[in-house]
Amino acid sequence: MKLTFDCIGSKGDIYTVTFHKSEGNVHCECTCKAGKHGQLCRHRIDILKGNPASITSDNKSSISDVIYAIKDTEIGKYLLQISQLETAIEVAQKELVFTKKKLSATLR
Ligand SMILES: [Zn+2]
Repeated sequence: MKLTFDCIGSKGDIYTVTFHKSEGNVHCECTCKAGKHGQLCRHRIDILKGNPASITSDNKSSISDVIYAIKDTEIGKYLLQISQLETAIEVAQKELVFTKKKLSATLR
């Protein structure tokens, strides 16, 4: 399997995200600066999470093929962990704001 998506970056640049699947392993590259340096970029994360918002090529529906390809791989496991950690951070940030408000109110 090889799938290519054109994605728009935050400054309007177009990057190419390519997925390859061979022998059960999924590999993904992006032509953006972060991607070229082997860092996890927003373009790859969005597609891996099933978010087609930044895709500008006419194959947005192929995102489901990516989701299917990563289903039983470590990638799916890590994405779930990232999602859970992001949720935990959101909850902690809300609790932090709430607790600071309570402290502020108590100090009046
Ligand atoms: Zn990228």
